[in-house]
Parts: sequence; C-alpha cells; structure tokens
Amino acid sequence: RAKRSKATYCVYEEGMQRAVADAFNLKNDIRHALDEQQLYLVYQPQVAATTGEIRGVEALLRWEHPKIGDIPPSKFIPVLEELGLIHKVGRWVLKEAAAQLRAWQDEGIDVPRVAVNVSPVQLERAAFTEELLETLAGADVAPSSVEIELVETTLLADIDAMGDRLFEISERGVSIALDDFGTGFSALNHLHRFPVNVVKIDRTFVAGLGSAREDARIIEAIVRVAGDLGVETIGEGVETQLQLDRLVELGCKYIHGYLVAYPAKAEGIAGQIGDDRGV
Ligand code: C2E
Ligand code: CA
Ligand code: CA
Ligand code: CA
Repeated sequence: RAKRSKATYCVYEEGMQRAVADAFNLKNDIRHALDEQQLYLVYQPQVAATTGEIRGVEALLRWEHPKIGDIPPSKFIPVLEELGLIHKVGRWVLKEAAAQLRAWQDEGIDVPRVAVNVSPVQLERAAFTEELLETLAGADVAPSSVEIELVETTLLADIDAMGDRLFEISERGVSIALDDFGTGFSALNHLHRFPVNVVKIDRTFVAGLGSAREDARIIEAIVRVAGDLGVETIGEGVETQLQLDRLVELGCKYIHGYLVAYPAKAEGIAGQIGDDRGV
C-alpha cells in the first residue's frame, strides 16, 4: 500500500516538474516571439443581430510557437503580463490592427471599426493614452473607428486612476467596451460611473440560453440597464441559431461567434465581407 501511494506521488511529482519546465520554456521562448515574428493577429466580425450588417472586427492575438505550434492567448498573455512584455506586445497589436484597418479601408473593404483587447496592466501605464493616439495617428486611422476592450477587473484595480484614464481615452474619441460583462463584481454599477460605449455579454450567459432560465434573465437585465444608459450590447460567442433568436428577443443589438464567423487572418475577413457586399 505504501508502495502504491509512493508511485502515485512520483507520477504527480513528474507531472508537476513537467508543468514547471513547460512554464519555464514558455517564459524563455516568448521573449523572442515578437522579434521573431511568431505573433500574429486574427480578426472576428461583430455583426448586427437582426441584419448581419458588420459593426466591426475584434483583433485576437495568436502565437505560433516554432516547435509546439499554436499556443492559445489564455496561456501566454498572463506570461507577457508577468514579464512586463505586454506593453511592447500591446503596442504592436494596436499598431498592427490600425494598419490593417487602414489597409481594408484603402481597398474599399467596409470594416467600420476594429476592437482591440487591452490588458489591465497596459492601462496602468500613464503613457498609454498618448501612445494609443500616436499609434492611430501614425496609421492614419480615426480614433472613432477604434474600440478598446477591457475586462471588468481593470476597473477594480484602482478605480479612480482607471476612471481618469478611461475618461481621457473616451474624450479623444476612442470607444470603450467592457468585455466578459456580467462575470465581474457589481458589473451594472460600472456602467454609469465610466464612459462605457458597449458591453460584451459574457459567453457563459449566451451558452445557457435555451437551457438555463437565469441566463436569459441576466441578459435581459443587462440589456435593459444598458439601454437606459445608452450603452450598446454585444452577445459573445454565439454558436447556435437558437442562441441568436433568443438574443434578438431579449433586445441584444450585436453579436459575434462561430455561428457568424470564426476568427480568421485578415485576408479571410476581406473575403467574407467582400462576399456580402456585391449583392
Ligand atoms: P475574449 O476577449 O473574450 O475573446 C473572445 C474569445 O472567444 C476568443 O478566444 C474567440 O476566439 C472566442 N470565441 C469567439 N466566438 C466563439 C464561439 O462562438 N464559441 C466559443 N467557444 N468561443 C468563441 P481567444 O482568441 O482564444 O482569446 C482568448 C482571450 O485572450 C480573449 O478573450 C482575450 O481576453 C485574450 N486576448 C486575445 N487577444 C488579446 C490581445 O491582443 N491582448 C490582450 N490583452 N488579450 C487578448
Ligand atoms: Ca475581447
Ligand atoms: Ca469576451
Ligand atoms: Ca474572455
């Protein structure tokens, strides 16, 4: 019996060591990822729930590791934050997304806006707003065609400092979206305290539509309060027609999700929108 538990212990320890080693390698490898052009962006359309008309695209970061292949952002973004590399990578993401938007607009492809995810760590930097605006000006992109997506924890960090920063950004014309909305603490409370243009209703609530009654009620409440405050709503991660129908019933204005389109490289997006256009 003792032997068996020892064996179990060894297996466990081996697993731990591997996890530690993996994390270590990830940390080392990611330092070079940007310079070695292993990072790239994919884009996912956001559309009007009833008409399918394009509202914009969300830029999503990807890392193609030379040995392991694609590593999901949920794995490597925390590492970038921990290493302080998120500032540099974040600036690159903004620059790349802005350049892509300019390119689409120059080609006559109708992408009205690009949404970029911004980590709370990035927002803590005092120079963030100036750098953001410089980047957009450099790409000849109007601030009003750019949206930054923030998770609610951003607001909880240092609520006054974050509030000031958000007002600064908003006054310059950049749109502000609250991401994963409804999962954070006292979510509805944030809506009238901060210059929020749009809330993205978290995928977990959308996924429950059709089965969990409470999810519909939560979405209903979010849509109602948002509507009262003049804030737009986007339903995240819509995968089925049923979810789409329910969201429309509940008054949600925009959606994104696999039902509409998977995230794709810029050329793929151009194709999708090009197809819709020439009708
Ligand atoms: P997010 O901002 O909530 O992005 C939406 C995630 O849902 C994306 O995952 C997207 O691929 C996925 N998704 C879209 N439609 C569907 C659907 O119908 N079903 C399901 N199951 N999933 C769907 P992804 O690309 O893996 O990104 C994960 C998270 O990583 C993002 O969540 C965001 O928080 C973060 N992230 C991605 N790019 C960046 C970036 O450039 N900067 C920062 N700071 N974070 C980023
Ligand atoms: Ca997002
Ligand atoms: Ca989200
Ligand atoms: Ca998320």
